[in-house]
Amino acid sequence: MADYIYTLETRLTPDQQKAVTLVQDAAKAAEMNLYLTGGAIRDIVTGFPIRDLDFTVQGNALKLQKDLERAGAVVGDSDDETRTLLLTLPGGVRAEVAMARSERHEKSGKPPVIMPATVTEDLRRRDFTVNAMALSLNEGSRGLLMDPFNGAADIEAKLIRLLHNYAFLEDPSRLIRATRFATRFHWPIEERTLARYNAAKENNYIQHIRNSSIGYEIEQLAYEDDPLSILKAYEREGWLKVLNPRWNSAKVDTSGMGALMKTRQQMNELGYTPEVAPAVLYFLTTRLPDKDVSDIRKAIPRRDLVEAWKDLEDHAKDLAKRLAGKEAATPSRTWQLLSSARPEMILFLAITARQQAVVQKIKNFFTKWRQIQQKVPLPEMAELHITPQLPAYPKIANDVFLLLLDGKLRSRTEILKFLKPLAPPPPPPPPPPPAKRGRGAKAAAAAVAAAAAVPVKGGAKTKGKGAPAVVAPATVPVATGKTKGKAAAPPAVATAVAATAAAKPNAAAKPAAAVKGAKPSKAPVAKASGKPAKPAKPAVKVHGKSKNRKR
Ligand code: ATP
Repeated sequence: MADYIYTLETRLTPDQQKAVTLVQDAAKAAEMNLYLTGGAIRDIVTGFPIRDLDFTVQGNALKLQKDLERAGAVVGDSDDETRTLLLTLPGGVRAEVAMARSERHEKSGKPPVIMPATVTEDLRRRDFTVNAMALSLNEGSRGLLMDPFNGAADIEAKLIRLLHNYAFLEDPSRLIRATRFATRFHWPIEERTLARYNAAKENNYIQHIRNSSIGYEIEQLAYEDDPLSILKAYEREGWLKVLNPRWNSAKVDTSGMGALMKTRQQMNELGYTPEVAPAVLYFLTTRLPDKDVSDIRKAIPRRDLVEAWKDLEDHAKDLAKRLAGKEAATPSRTWQLLSSARPEMILFLAITARQQAVVQKIKNFFTKWRQIQQKVPLPEMAELHITPQLPAYPKIANDVFLLLLDGKLRSRTEILKFLKPLAPPPPPPPPPPPAKRGRGAKAAAAAVAAAAAVPVKGGAKTKGKGAPAVVAPATVPVATGKTKGKAAAPPAVATAVAATAAAKPNAAAKPAAAVKGAKPSKAPVAKASGKPAKPAKPAVKVHGKSKNRKR
């Protein structure tokens, strides 16, 4: 049970996960039970990419509209009859939130009688077993998979199987859907389902398809990863002319479609995820008469998709104009312009632009100029302490990149000249050890002298090579009497000081203060013993303690 939640969380994109949370919050606030249903569950189980999220609530989904909009959802359409919202959630996540319903079909092609229902009843009105599963998103049962028709087994067997004998008769759009899923997944239609499919074809059930289903299926075609192969399958099966009487594969701009798929792939590899459905519709219908295009547009339920399709050419023209003008006079300005443009527009323009200069600029944006990003002089920047920890780092790195793009930083001298004024001030020198006076100072000096006399592990190795290394800074905190055993200076400072001591072997016996150039404190030692302080003896540090060792 928990595995499905784990799978859900690992298979959804971060934006889809946020979308689930958003819908969950809205359903919870409205005290409605919520389930993830349909294709999303199928895709979670199969491992195919999850294209959209279908939610089912037990209650009126339309009541969630305001809350969802407040959370950033755009409502593409709503259906009062089925109480369904078609949404685009933040991050471009396509989703549908529908009321759990049962359907009673009284006559083929006529809308069914719809009644609010439980999720289990809702699963019964669905098309194929692999699409009739639900995952609870409710507290207490989160992750529970409901699979009354054993869709999981059909996924395992890779079969498209109808739920009911009369399913094609009740809703002939399921014939189109069967073709779509079989073509997309390369799964066969199960034997008995196929027999019914063929019978439905022979008896021309498709003539009873509802107009709303036509629009819905055209829209679904636009979301396919390989829409052209689905369109050709529809044509073979006789479904394409049902979607529009003059539509056939000759009406498709096949080279445009090919370029669209190829460029999308390239953009995906660079981390862009443009929404391609509007452009897919554009190329699939390029050679259809305007009247048919207009009919198709009217039929599609999601209005935001239709608007995006309509706007494609105008927006692309506008971008082309800007790319050909002063705003894109240099590579860096072109880069900035394209970086702020919508990926969908770049994608569409990359395929449709006529002006060679525009085509070349987009090409450079995707290829040559990205290689220049690798040339940002990171070693020089690090040398000058311009590192990612610096708040100004992203801006500096970007400015350097833009100058590189325009060929303005050609040599190391030019790079350093640009970077130096932007470098942060060097780190402050380590604070000098406290030079105390009076009793404290005496005690400190005594401790310093004593500690200075403590050689470190490895000191024996230096035998005959001068004095052993000394852990100089460790002497400082001891002098305070508070920080015994703890380093007062930051480790980097301590290391730096120790390095200084090691570099000056004769300074080894001196207290840290002496190493740092402060006055050596000799008096307390001389006073205590009546003799001047002896040079340090080497020692071996054992488990944090130092032990004098005879030499
Ligand atoms: P995908 O989005 O990957 O194309 P999907 O299964 O999610 O596949 P949708 O068209 O988004 O397809 O439909 C969502 C769910 O609604 C389906 O999984 C199915 O359970 C149900 N459904 C859609 N259309 C019908 C239909 N005509 N008859 C019965 N159930 C349907």
